Amino acid sequence: MAHKKIAMERDKKIALVAHDNMKGDLVEWAKFNRVLLAHHQLFATGTTGRILKQEVGVEICTLQSGPLGGDMQIGAKIAHSEIDFLIFFWDPLEPQPHDPDVKALLRMAVVWNIPIACNRASADFMISSPLMDSDYDRLVPDYDSYRTRAVQARK
Ligand code: PGA
Repeated sequence: MAHKKIAMERDKKIALVAHDNMKGDLVEWAKFNRVLLAHHQLFATGTTGRILKQEVGVEICTLQSGPLGGDMQIGAKIAHSEIDFLIFFWDPLEPQPHDPDVKALLRMAVVWNIPIACNRASADFMISSPLMDSDYDRLVPDYDSYRTRAVQARK
């Protein structure tokens, strides 16, 4: 399949999401990386964003709480190239009421070739990458052939 390039600028649009048992980890991580995060534009699901504002003092655009649609809002932003980086500390030991939304968000990140960090070690490696502070052309499959595929309209 052919690919298209989507430009990621030096100042990246980063979405931050943490399930309740993981919020402490994300706060610690964000405090430690506050300086590195400073020039990026941050988005978060509702409760994660509120806690990050309180505890870390970063400027952040908050969306709905995850179980109320926040994960889906982030997924939609990824599909519109309005988010280009996802840090998602999902909880591997706790069932979530919005599990389908979690799966959908992770799927959107893969469909649009968004870097995803799902734990602290991955987030550490990603935030310290030289690519975080430079322009980067993200390769995304050219979905035009999918959009224009032949579909039978009636039987
Ligand atoms: P929350 O949502 O930040 O509103 O708690 C996180 C999630 O998607 O579970």
